[in-house]
Amino acid sequence: MNYLVDSHVHIDSKEFNMDRGKVLERIKEKMDFVVNIGCDIKSSRIGVEYSKKYPFIYATVGIHPENIGNYSYDTEKELERLAKNPKVVAIGEIGLDYHWMIDPKEEQIEVFIEQMKIAERLGKPVVIHTRDAMEDTLDVLSKFPNIKGILHCYPGSVDIALKMQKNYYFGIGGVLTFKTAKKLIEVVKGIDISRLVLETDCPYLTPEPYRGRRNEPIYVEYVAQKIAEIKEMSYEDVIKITNENARKAYNI
Ligand SMILES: [Zn+2]
Repeated sequence: MNYLVDSHVHIDSKEFNMDRGKVLERIKEKMDFVVNIGCDIKSSRIGVEYSKKYPFIYATVGIHPENIGNYSYDTEKELERLAKNPKVVAIGEIGLDYHWMIDPKEEQIEVFIEQMKIAERLGKPVVIHTRDAMEDTLDVLSKFPNIKGILHCYPGSVDIALKMQKNYYFGIGGVLTFKTAKKLIEVVKGIDISRLVLETDCPYLTPEPYRGRRNEPIYVEYVAQKIAEIKEMSYEDVIKITNENARKAYNI
């Protein structure tokens, strides 16, 4: 059995328009499953369609903090409607991005909280995007002690991870393979393998040896290899354990 899982993909992205069929074939051949992550209403809808069509695709629905400009009551109703599809496994990616700061902090926090409430109402986990905004992110999450999920592309410290690990898994991607990944390597060392999930965030953040090219789900294998090396475990154990982690995180 192949245990490879990519817990965070954007297969709907235009970077796959030329050869999406081939990318899907490679997933089918080499992987257990992937989770297509919604960033806005359009990608959320497409993700749900993929999840209906392909047995190896699950989906999340949500509005990324860079796309909250038109967030309204209608957006919320549509997200709830989409989230009721059986293979929608989480609300996300939601959160805060103070790096790009497309919308002011206050608005980002408000929409983040509204979407956390959707997850609460529907009893779903969340996929969190946080960039240069850890303190405010933790503040919002602390208001929802019963919600679980994944802190995607985990940018925090070991200390924060140890505090959050009761409810959250930590998404680790291609950045781990970069030469500049010293800090992230220490973070991966400090978090137990039972709390890590693998992701590519494709088409972005392509791991070595393909850095600079378009990313795709099967490259998650390079992240697994790097984790095996850091944790002095076998590659097989890493993909098997992180597969179980992703299933638990998403209730699959
Ligand atoms: Zn993403």
